[in-house]
Amino acid sequence: MKRCIICGGKCKQFHEYFLKCEICGLYVNIDYPSPEKLKNRLKNNMLTASRKKEVEKRRLGKAKIQIETINKYSKRGKVFDVAAAGGFFMKTAQDDGWIVDGNEISVASVNWAKQNYNLNIKNDYFEKLDLLNDHDVVVFWNTLEHMHEPVKSLKKTYEILKDGGLIYIRVPNRNDNNFKKFVEKLHSFEFNPQNLDKLLNDNGFEKIFLKEIPDEDQPMDLLYKKV
Ligand SMILES: [Zn+2]
Repeated sequence: MKRCIICGGKCKQFHEYFLKCEICGLYVNIDYPSPEKLKNRLKNNMLTASRKKEVEKRRLGKAKIQIETINKYSKRGKVFDVAAAGGFFMKTAQDDGWIVDGNEISVASVNWAKQNYNLNIKNDYFEKLDLLNDHDVVVFWNTLEHMHEPVKSLKKTYEILKDGGLIYIRVPNRNDNNFKKFVEKLHSFEFNPQNLDKLLNDNGFEKIFLKEIPDEDQPMDLLYKKV
């Protein structure tokens, strides 16, 4: 029987390929590709924003809001974008005066970011990278739900942040009412505000805010501080 990575509760079949923790409600994808398979499957993957100008413009506009929010809580410094796709956030943060770094497993997206924004995105998994503990902010923008081992990802984040550094997350907010509408094969886990708060607390982060966002796909935004 599978135990929950957040609370240790029992995970029981909930959907064709998702289990659900009977205590904290975490959804766990039991059919998620291994890191090697996923990297191979996504090697040519690019977001629509890398193919359509108007979508790119919208994505850059959202990145501007992301960086403006961060600027309210941190002085400009060094930011790492986990699974950066085509580098839309990195480009925007760099233009705003931040030193940027990031990773992405899709080779096509890394190349696109180099050609279009002159960014050097690292083509490997975040947890495997050799990084210094000199970051002010780490961003997971629609990416925490794709991590193979979110605990490992948060431990890595803690390790590379300076004391008092920030973690900024956007992630789907899932419950039994909206799970089936939005279910995605390439999400490894689906969180709710309570279990994600516990996961962050347990890994050394303290809440600054956690907001449910009234967008169509029902995400939540979280800003936490390393303590
Ligand atoms: Zn649980």
